[in-house]
Formats: sequence, C-alpha cells, structure tokens
Amino acid sequence: MPLDNAAQNSSTATPVIQISDLHKSYGALEVLKGVDLVAERGHVVSLIGSSGSGKSTLLRCANLLEDSQQGEILFEGEPIKWRGHALHRHPADRAQVTRIRTNLSMVFQQFNLWSHMTILQNVMEAPVTVLGRNKAEVEEKARAYLAKVGIGDKCDVWPAQLSGGQQQRAAIARALCMEPKALLFDEPTSALDPELEQEVVRVIKDLATEGRTMVIVTHDMRLAADVSDHVIFLHQGLIEEEGPPETLFGSPKSERLQQFLSATQ
Ligand code: ADP
Ligand code: MG
Repeated sequence: MPLDNAAQNSSTATPVIQISDLHKSYGALEVLKGVDLVAERGHVVSLIGSSGSGKSTLLRCANLLEDSQQGEILFEGEPIKWRGHALHRHPADRAQVTRIRTNLSMVFQQFNLWSHMTILQNVMEAPVTVLGRNKAEVEEKARAYLAKVGIGDKCDVWPAQLSGGQQQRAAIARALCMEPKALLFDEPTSALDPELEQEVVRVIKDLATEGRTMVIVTHDMRLAADVSDHVIFLHQGLIEEEGPPETLFGSPKSERLQQFLSATQ
C-alpha cells in the first residue's frame, strides 16, 4: 500500500507555515517579541536556544494551541483570521483552527500516548474520530506507519510495555497517520536515554530524507546540523541568529550563539 509521499508534492511556491513579527505574552511576560519563521514545503527548520527562550511557545503558536498579541500566521498562504484586541487575540474561526491543527501534527517530549489504548488504537484514534476516515483503511495505514518506524510488531501492546524510544516512535507514527502537511517536534529526544535517543533520531532523519516538512525544537545540535535546511537560534524571545546549519554551527557570528554552542558541546 502506498503511504503518502511527501516528496511528491514538493512545490516550493507557497510555504506550509509562514509566521511574521509574532508577539506572544503571558500576562506581563513577553515571551515572543517579534519572531519570523518560514517552513518551506519539504524543508526542515530547527529551533535552538536556551531553556525559556520561547521555542515551545513558538511551536505552540504555529499550531494555534496558543493565542498571540500581534503578527501574522499563514498556513499554506492562508492567513489566520484573528478576533479580539491587541492584548487578547484569538483565532476567529474554529473550523480553520481545526483544519490547520490537524494538518500540523505535533510530537511532544513526553510522547503523550493514551495509556488506556493499545499502540495501534493510539495511532488510529485521531484519523478515525477527528478526520472521520474509514476504520479499515486507517488500520492498514497505521500498521504501515508503525512498521515504518520499526515497531510493526508492537501494535497490540500497551504504551507502558514499550521503552521510551519505542513510545516516541509510536507517537511519530501517530503523527504520520494524520497525513499532515508538516510535523512539529518539541524536544522529541530529550526524555530519552542516549542509547534510545538514536533510534528516534534515525526515524527523524529518514523523514527528512523523504522530504517531509518539519519544524524541530531540539537540544541535539548534531540532529539540527544533520537534518535542517535552516536553523533559528532564539534568545529571550527574539531571533538572535539564523541561517543554514553549515553557517550557524560552522561560523556563528553572535557572541550569544558562540557561548550557547560551546556550552552544549
Ligand atoms: P523553551 O521551550 O525555549 O524552553 P518556553 O516557550 O517553554 O521556552 O517558555 C518561554 C517563557 O514563557 C518562559 O519564561 C516560560 O516560563 C514562559 N511560559 C511558557 N508557558 C507559559 C504559560 N503557560 N504561562 C506563563 N508563562 C509561560
Ligand atoms: Mg520547550
């Protein structure tokens, strides 16, 4: 059975995600102070930076899990419609939010698998209940995605019976089964022991090679260097430096980035 082939529709015309001048505050705390991010189709963008610099917030804003105060977000060229005022602005259209969110699948640090469902049920749940897809077709796809991430033999076990690396791979299969336009990863390897980290890194690298559009928040500089087309270094809610990985890691300009990189070696 053919899985959806991300590389097939690799037109670079309209970016999947385009964020400009995004401002986000929690009460008096301004966490994003005017941030831009463009995820071209088939490209991988990595977000790096110290803890608290706003990486997760930016990812959550992209996925419309968070409101914002100012700035634009375009999904495949389509602007998010906002309502409210400058201090409290929400996406206006629930249907638009649902459509965009189901097209941007998120993978979290803590896997967030449903513990009362088997691995197969975890992967099938959203395509069946949220997208209303045919159950038998979803099951076939779910099994294929689980095989693709190397745990095709774990369909009928509970999440607790898997290692962290296997659980995260199941979470990636679950994200893929939504057949999204982009995958958003928030520190996908941070909760894993080093030896399990690599099995997840391998899956992410395969997805990059396939031409999947991805935005990856990571503390793993080697992963960022290996898979990214573009790397963004956030510092206190602003982009301090960005560029292709060769430049960013090879000849960082800003002192903050130099310090950050030497601290993560
Ligand atoms: P990172 O992912 O880079 O570590 P975050 O985006 O999680 O950073 O957080 C950026 C800042 O926003 C931090 O100071 C954090 O404490 C704050 N923050 C994040 N989420 C919330 C929230 N729900 N309410 C209040 N402050 C928050
Ligand atoms: Mg974070």
